[in-house]
Amino acid sequence: MSHDTQNTVSTGSLPGPDVVEAVLDEAYERFRDLDEGTVIEGVPALADAEPDLFGVALMDSDGAEHIRGDARHQFSIQSISKAFAYALVCQEIGHDAVLERVGVDNTGVPFDSVLAIEHNEGHPMNPMVNAGAIAATGLAPGDSSAERWDFLLHGLSRFAGRELEIDEAVYRSESRSNQRNQGLALLLEGHGRLSGDALGVVDVYTKQCSLLVDARDLAVMGATLASGGVNPRTGEQVVDASIARDTVSVLASTGMYERSGEWLFEVGAPAKSGISGGIVMVSPGKGAVGAFSPRLDDAGNSVRGRKVSAHLSRALGLDVFASRPPSDLPSEGPRVRRR
Ligand code: GLN
Repeated sequence: MSHDTQNTVSTGSLPGPDVVEAVLDEAYERFRDLDEGTVIEGVPALADAEPDLFGVALMDSDGAEHIRGDARHQFSIQSISKAFAYALVCQEIGHDAVLERVGVDNTGVPFDSVLAIEHNEGHPMNPMVNAGAIAATGLAPGDSSAERWDFLLHGLSRFAGRELEIDEAVYRSESRSNQRNQGLALLLEGHGRLSGDALGVVDVYTKQCSLLVDARDLAVMGATLASGGVNPRTGEQVVDASIARDTVSVLASTGMYERSGEWLFEVGAPAKSGISGGIVMVSPGKGAVGAFSPRLDDAGNSVRGRKVSAHLSRALGLDVFASRPPSDLPSEGPRVRRR
């Protein structure tokens, strides 16, 4: 069953632009000198990233933007593409089919693990780690890899509100070091869980991971999910409101790999990260934050991205779990604190 979000949405709003600017200044300054974490190794073109880069962008649901630092520095989107490819595929085949074919649960294992497949009789379960994401990419409409790629490139570009392009060096580098992903795809195919030819699907998946974005693009893409599927910059309805809702709900439990529970506990808003150092955090109805900094923790999440997201979530009320007691209860009313 998918949710009708037409009349049943309650999200609150962001503070005014002056407050957002001041909070962003404070958050950026607080973490700009933090140098914890390490740049990803293993994909030569990513290992070359400048570790000190740090950018942050916030886009509200009305399309107003606030940016700091290296928010216009481009990097490959990597795993963050999984969130938007997933939304596009859900839009095509529907909530129930994706639930059945791919699943929506955290697997609790690192993003490139085969355990997600083998523990569940070939059912990848988690669309935000490689096995499930490759399965989802295989569900993109088309009779060939070229058609599937065209669908995803066009769809991800609509989320960003501009034509995205591949970083050819990253694409070539990942294509040469992609044996694990090829193994995952062949395993899925062996379990009858992959549409399309396995190596062709991995190639499309590698292309989608190689698309160049900046932190501001991530904020626009996230704000589209936070705004009923409408890109607040272009006004285009990229996916239905119910699909935006489904996608954000999946990000909550799976977006930060095996640290998704810890992230929700610390930060309180659904998010997705990638190994080049990007993070997009979505606060439904309010907007989204895009952050970029290449030094990662041991789960592959950007350290400064994590800290700055947590700070902004608290200071701007992006946390979807926080509430306050009602202020208009009668003084004789039911506010009873038992000791
Ligand atoms: N392209 C990378 C891979 O497939 C993406 C992984 C990531 O960002 N976590 O392994």
